[in-house]
Amino acid sequence: MDASEFRKRGKEMVDYIADYMEGISSRRVTPEVYPGYLRNMLPRNPPTSGESFSDIMDDIEKNIMPGVTHWQHPHFHAYFPAGNSFPSILGDMLSDAIGCVGFSWAASPACTELETIVLDWFGKMIGLPRPFLHESGEGGGVIQGSASECVLVMLLAARHKALKQLKGKFPLMEDGVLLSKLVAYSSKLAHSCVEKAGMLGFVKMRQLDVDDNYSLRGHVLERAIEEDRRLGLIPIFVCATLGTTACCSFDNIAEIGEVCARENVWLHVDAAYAGNALICPEFSYIIDGIENVTSFNCNPNKWLLVNFDCSLLWIRRKEMLTSSMTVDPLYLQHKHDGITLRLYMFIDDIFQHWGIPLSRRFRSLKLWFVIRTYGIDGLQKYIRQHVRLAKLFETYVKNDARFEVMGKVTMGLVCFRLKGPNSLTAKLNHMINESGKLHMVPALINENYVIRFAVCAQNACEEDIEFAWRIISQEASTLLTARLS
Ligand code: PLP
Repeated sequence: MDASEFRKRGKEMVDYIADYMEGISSRRVTPEVYPGYLRNMLPRNPPTSGESFSDIMDDIEKNIMPGVTHWQHPHFHAYFPAGNSFPSILGDMLSDAIGCVGFSWAASPACTELETIVLDWFGKMIGLPRPFLHESGEGGGVIQGSASECVLVMLLAARHKALKQLKGKFPLMEDGVLLSKLVAYSSKLAHSCVEKAGMLGFVKMRQLDVDDNYSLRGHVLERAIEEDRRLGLIPIFVCATLGTTACCSFDNIAEIGEVCARENVWLHVDAAYAGNALICPEFSYIIDGIENVTSFNCNPNKWLLVNFDCSLLWIRRKEMLTSSMTVDPLYLQHKHDGITLRLYMFIDDIFQHWGIPLSRRFRSLKLWFVIRTYGIDGLQKYIRQHVRLAKLFETYVKNDARFEVMGKVTMGLVCFRLKGPNSLTAKLNHMINESGKLHMVPALINENYVIRFAVCAQNACEEDIEFAWRIISQEASTLLTARLS
């Protein structure tokens, strides 16, 4: 494909995308296909000669779209939102065209510098204290591929720090023996990626009980740490969650932080979804206690109109991360290594040392495009609209005596269930999803089966909430009537 065909096809693609987004509500939110459907439609072997772009695009509607779950559909209420907006799509298009691999300043200066600048902007937007910013010269932020990677990388950094200290104290002890003593903590409601991080890092991960508000409290952590020290274990890491996946509950980071500070334990905060709401001052109370937090992640690709992937990770002292991730072969070094670029911005913000991959896309472009296009005001309006619609949905549930709401509704998620045994709500969830009119997923909260209703669509409005409630209410009537007869 040459540049002139690219111009033509590119314009067609932009039209196709705009038509897709504008007409999405005429599609079924979930596909009606069976596993292996695509294998039966496409040739078993790749083409020997190139095919026309028109033929490829024809197959999109014929073969691909029938198997797409439309996450941007106004009736998609599953999981958490998958961020999306036109400025973000345009930013990613440009990033693909520039096609740089920005692992260090020299590998693409603008890529590294823009990332440090927008991470500082975003850090300020959500009220992170100055040490977390690049401009402080102490800490800084970086874009990772997912919240799961943020948590894993922080656990590995905490493990590195702990092993280094222990090696100093017990130089003759094998690393493997020391490793077997390390222990980390989260609440039972932490995302499964926290358990996985422990598994990948060979660090025992204890999942602690939550209180009646589904929140991990300081005294529970303190007791677990005491028990483990008595057993000869060494507590190194806590992952607290602000906005749990199951029910958007909030661990008490003020209490947990005090325990971590006393016990010299790394406190990471996973605020993948709810952290975005911190751009609205009325939610700033959720980071009370941030002064004792070591590292923090938040995904604008979940709830701030930025397309996947864009997980933001900040750390209070950057060398706590880079010291655990640095290998420095000659072919990756460059002439500016270690030189102070400006008073506060160090050229040694070589992002290859801030995570697992070497290669990195120019992801800050889409975040920059989004922040500049909407401004803080526009982004606050988006968050507040989702919160308002979740409250509206909560009112519908509360006004219907057949249902109950589980947990507090503070953000864009409402967890609800039919009163009665779990099997009833499970059946309702199945019927609604089978209808193809709405898509939601369930969760278990303290043994209660709930349906999660997440406000997801970029332009979600009251009519979408009314539509969803109508479907839920009708399906519930069908289910309960059939049960009686
Ligand atoms: N943490 C929380 C609180 C989440 O809700 C999720 C996913 O929904 C994750 C982590 C995992 O996110 P990712 O898919 O970016 O790894």
